[in-house]
Amino acid sequence: MRRPLVAGNWKMHGSRESIAALLAGLPKLGGVEVVVCPPYVYLPEVIAALHDTDIGVGAQNVSEQQQGAYTGEVSADMLRDIGCRYAIVGHSERRTLYGENDEQVAAKFMAAQAEGLVPILCVGETLAQREQGETLTVINSQLDAVIQAAGIKAVCSAVIAYEPVWAIGTGKTATAEQAQEVHQAIRQQLGANGEGTRVLYGGSVKAANAAELFAQPDIDGALVGGASLNSAEFGEICKLA
Ligand code: PEP
Repeated sequence: MRRPLVAGNWKMHGSRESIAALLAGLPKLGGVEVVVCPPYVYLPEVIAALHDTDIGVGAQNVSEQQQGAYTGEVSADMLRDIGCRYAIVGHSERRTLYGENDEQVAAKFMAAQAEGLVPILCVGETLAQREQGETLTVINSQLDAVIQAAGIKAVCSAVIAYEPVWAIGTGKTATAEQAQEVHQAIRQQLGANGEGTRVLYGGSVKAANAAELFAQPDIDGALVGGASLNSAEFGEICKLA
């Protein structure tokens, strides 16, 4: 039995004022694990505000380096030190806008786990790749890069997020069948150790499409971008999980 997880990726949005309002509206639910991933600078105050709730806090990124002369970077050790539980790695915006390749994603994954953070490992195909019929090959190879580096057990103890690049921030969602096909393939790749691994769907998830996605047998929750900035909408998605 996998406990559903809904994680909100706030990306580079918010201010102290808007975040205080967002925090006040977050759902308090027992059955579903809820996680929010604010911008780095707001992590300490979000962690403090949520410390006596079950809502977890994650970072949107993490350095693959432990410490040293890496201007602008934040290490896994620092994130653990301030009370983060999760770190998103391999988000498509990091892969495409900041050139993170599979090798770097694997290094970040291992750096996060080495400090006891749970990586939320994102994988996903572009529209061109889907149209060429390469979806499952692309997902398989993004996941395999991390399995080869970190080992299958390490990957199974993380959270995986299937996020078709063409569905992120575009308002286009994969159909429940399209998503289920990929989630099932991910679970098969994880093998016997992956039965308990949570595989989230991400890509324009809203209250209006969440129920159908969550009804699929291999979809264990969602990584939510835009809709997580509206606490009523996000709360609704969490309830549906
Ligand atoms: C994301 O950034 O991970 C995401 C899924 O964004 P959105 O929900 O806005 O498509």
